[in-house]
Amino acid sequence: MAVGFTYSVERECPICGEKFQVTKTRSRLIKIKQDSDFCVHYKEFNPYYYDIWVCSHCGYASDEKHFDTLREKEKEKIAQFLKDRKVKIEYKEVRTRGDAINAFKLALYYADLIESPESRKAGLYLKLAWLYREAGEEDSEAGEEAKAKEQEVLIRSLEAYDKALTTERFPIGSMTDTAATYLIGELYRRTGNTEKAVQYLSRVIGEKRSKMEPAIYNLARDLWQDMRKESV
Ligand SMILES: [Zn+2]
Repeated sequence: MAVGFTYSVERECPICGEKFQVTKTRSRLIKIKQDSDFCVHYKEFNPYYYDIWVCSHCGYASDEKHFDTLREKEKEKIAQFLKDRKVKIEYKEVRTRGDAINAFKLALYYADLIESPESRKAGLYLKLAWLYREAGEEDSEAGEEAKAKEQEVLIRSLEAYDKALTTERFPIGSMTDTAATYLIGELYRRTGNTEKAVQYLSRVIGEKRSKMEPAIYNLARDLWQDMRKESV
């Protein structure tokens, strides 16, 4: 399925100093749709499988953007943790969904270890939830389990975004605080907490500066209206 969408490049690990392979995805992907929590679906390929780089020598893992931005103290902490562990992770240019899920769990483990900002952990949880969402499309017992996992991880994500909102300075990357507020509301909606969802979406709709971001404003308004219709 994935043939032709990926290629390998060599990188150097900031922890063990060894060279290892990572998979890059080609940019000719065709977008099919985007979910209301920003998960993008592409034709015949899921690039989220490759967001996490894993060093095959020592087992250090992170998303590409943060892979090599570690401070000395963080490097020491990770190196100390890995010191007596013989972690060897086989490199595969083409990952299965299971490989990708494991890679995200590893990245989250290290993000916790070095006390990464909540916004970063929130983003990792969100993408992990999207992988479970894809797995949940299967009509089987495993699919049902994946749906439950998706819910669990979405809650982790929204809790981390909520903490980020009060402790971090936005925008973070391309995410404004309006977008984060919307996303928290949307994740509450997806996890069945209507009251909280309405509260956060109303905040987006009620704030004047949200109008500066019409795409987010419209998403929030549409969801809010749908929820009101459902509750009547
Ligand atoms: Zn390494």
